[in-house]
Amino acid sequence: MNTRSETPTPSGPVRTCVGCRKRASRSALVRLVLDAAARVVVDPGRSAPGRGAWLHPSRECLDLALRRRAFPRALHAAGPVDTDAVGEWFDRNAPAAPDAPEENESSTKKAGWKPMGTR
Ligand SMILES: [Zn+2]
Repeated sequence: MNTRSETPTPSGPVRTCVGCRKRASRSALVRLVLDAAARVVVDPGRSAPGRGAWLHPSRECLDLALRRRAFPRALHAAGPVDTDAVGEWFDRNAPAAPDAPEENESSTKKAGWKPMGTR
């Protein structure tokens, strides 16, 4: 029975974010897996074998997960895991401060930008 009409129940499979512990539809979360070198890496296809940890694509959730050491537990790692790679992924895909000014960077990008594929 669904009594809350304002929050529609996701139709697909639901997973729990290891950061904030909220449940969300699989497609709204990022899947993280452990590679052979005990590094936590993003599984873009969400189909890598083995255990996966699910996380919102949000820096807050990553920080929460790191703080409570959720990754070794969720991924059943024997020891400490290397989260540098996933930190880099979040730097690129989930900026910490969405309102951070980036004017100096974009101006250099514009100055050095050259059109490609003109043939
Ligand atoms: Zn979360």
